[in-house]
Amino acid sequence: MTISDDQMRALTFLAPGRLAWQAAPRPRLQSPTDAIVRPIAATTCDLDRLIVRGEAPFRGPFAIGHECIAEVAEVGEGVTRFRPGDIVVVHWHISCGHCGHCDDGRPNSCETFQPGAMYGLPGLGDWGGTFSDWLRVIAADTSLTPVPAGLDPVLVASAADNLPFAFEMTVPHLLARPGAPVLVMGGCGSIALYAVMFAMAAGAGSVTYCDTDPARLALAGHYGATLIEGPPPRQLGRFPLVVDASANAQSLLCGIRSVDPEGQVNSVGGHFADVALPLFEMYRRGVHFYTGRGRGGPGVAEPLEWVAKGLVDPRPVTNVVAEFDDAPAVLAEAPLKPVLSRPPIFSA
Ligand SMILES: [Zn+2]
Ligand SMILES: [Zn+2]
Repeated sequence: MTISDDQMRALTFLAPGRLAWQAAPRPRLQSPTDAIVRPIAATTCDLDRLIVRGEAPFRGPFAIGHECIAEVAEVGEGVTRFRPGDIVVVHWHISCGHCGHCDDGRPNSCETFQPGAMYGLPGLGDWGGTFSDWLRVIAADTSLTPVPAGLDPVLVASAADNLPFAFEMTVPHLLARPGAPVLVMGGCGSIALYAVMFAMAAGAGSVTYCDTDPARLALAGHYGATLIEGPPPRQLGRFPLVVDASANAQSLLCGIRSVDPEGQVNSVGGHFADVALPLFEMYRRGVHFYTGRGRGGPGVAEPLEWVAKGLVDPRPVTNVVAEFDDAPAVLAEAPLKPVLSRPPIFSA
């Protein structure tokens, strides 16, 4: 494709199983606190896999992707923490950095922009996608996290969303209940596997993993999980902590039935239709139920540090590493965790 100087390539989701490079306006600095970044290691969130497979209610065309490591290319004069050549995690949400929600650590629900504003989804503002050639980052000082020196961007390509989300669903809960056994309902993709990884590293007494997919089961086994293969039964024992990353109503219900009295069920979403919850049963047992998109930016640094220190290794989950140019074909197959990579320019 030919593109002019004021254009760039944006990886565009067209329809289930169909993606293409399309020309889009090249983003420019619009405010002193903006940065322009170039994604150098981009991956799919588990939500993107569902979109590409036609299992999520988002219709193309739109620039897809909200998970990347990027190189800072240009900063406005008001940006103080970053400069060209820095390698950074780009937070998936769009946030101003100074409203009430941003101030109290909830920039994923920033009050300044349209609710839910983020990269890579339609109808939430035109922010572009993280598989594009360039990205404009607003409020750059609070919307980027530095990648520790020497850490391979491919290894932490999911450091904006799926890694910290899995961390958040497991580690703080295990600190509150040291040694607790954990149940992870898999099926959606990488988050369930990262949850197994973090739970084991955080000292869970055991992790039980339920899924139908042999490849994902093997990965969960690699991280030390006890495996339950097949569709979810009605109940799987009793666990103080259950993580639902299944995108499947029966798995979610199995998880809820399998939680201890006053236990915690964390669901990472992927449920797009209403699910009838057994609320009376949950009431009698005292079930703490959380679902949401994750904390975003404030949750990025700690799991990144766990990877940098070698406490966890997300590498086995990444099953495809390819050139950026090959993104349309690679993503069309909806692999478990593809990383599209290219070398930095400014820090090379
Ligand atoms: Zn996501
Ligand atoms: Zn805000």
